[in-house]
Amino acid sequence: MYPLHYEGDIFRPPSEARSLILQATIGCSHNRCTFCAMYKRDRFRERDPEELQREIASAGRLWPHTRRVFLADGNALTLETERLLEIMQSLNEAFPRLERVAVYANPQDLLKKDSAGLAALRDLKLGMIYLGVESGSAALLREIKKGATPEEIARGAGRVKEAGIPLSITVINGLAGHEGSAGHARGSARLLNEIDPEYLGLLSLMIIPGTILHRRVEEGLLTPLGPWEMLREIRLMVEHLDLSSCVFRANHASNYLPLKAVLSRDRESLLTALDGVLEKKAPGMLRDEDHRLL
Ligand code: SF4
Repeated sequence: MYPLHYEGDIFRPPSEARSLILQATIGCSHNRCTFCAMYKRDRFRERDPEELQREIASAGRLWPHTRRVFLADGNALTLETERLLEIMQSLNEAFPRLERVAVYANPQDLLKKDSAGLAALRDLKLGMIYLGVESGSAALLREIKKGATPEEIARGAGRVKEAGIPLSITVINGLAGHEGSAGHARGSARLLNEIDPEYLGLLSLMIIPGTILHRRVEEGLLTPLGPWEMLREIRLMVEHLDLSSCVFRANHASNYLPLKAVLSRDRESLLTALDGVLEKKAPGMLRDEDHRLL
C-alpha cells in the first residue's frame, strides 16, 4: 500500500519536481487572496502529528536515499517553530542523505517567526522558503487582500535573510491589470531591491472563474493586460531592479515568453531581448493563450 496520504489538490513550485512531497498542513491559513483558487475547497488545518510521523517513518524505510523534501500545503511555515523543529528532526532521522527541505510561506508566517528560530530550522536543513509576494505596490496588496504591506513583507523577508535561508520570491505579472500596471512594476522592483532575494519567479496572471478577481474583470473594474502589455510590464520592472545576485525565472507554464537570467550579470541583455521582442511583436514568439497553464 502507498504509504503517503494526500488530501485535496497538491501544488508545488516547478523546482521541487524531484522532491518527496509530504503534507504537513492542509490548505492555506490565509486563503483570502482575490486571484487565487488553489485551496478554496480545503479548510486549513495541521496534519495529525502522529499520522505525519508514521508517514515520514514509512517513507524513510521505502526511500532512504531521499535528498529533497517539499513540505506542503500552501504555507507549512505557519506551524509553530517548535512543531516545525520536530518535523525537521524526524525528516533528518528518516532520510540520512537529506540535503534540503523547502516550504511555501505567507508574509504573515514570517512575521510570527524570529531569526533565531529560523536559523534553528536552517540547521536542520530548511534550505528554501518560497514566498508569494505577488506585488510591491501597497495599493495592489490591499486590493488583492494579501494581508500584508510592503513594509511587513520586507521585515519578514529580512528575518529569513538574517537566518541564512535562501528566499525565492514570486511576483505576478499583469496582476494590476491595465489600470495599475506601472505602479505594480515599479512598486515590485522597489520591494525586491529592498529584500534582495536569491531567486525571483515571475508568474503571469491567469484569471480563474469563481475568484473575486474574475468577478472584477467581468464587471469591467479591471482590464486584463494583453501579452505585449505583459511583456512591457516585465520590462519596466526589470529596468528598475538592482539586485546583487538573483536568479530570475519567468519560465512557468503561465508565462507568454520564457525568460531566464542572473540579474546582476544579464540585466542589460534581458532588457535588450525584451526590446527586440516588443519591437517585432511576432505572434509566433509567444506561448499560445490556450497553452498557458497554472
Ligand atoms: S496566500 Fe497563497 S495560497 Fe493562500 S490564498 Fe494567497 S495566493 Fe493563495
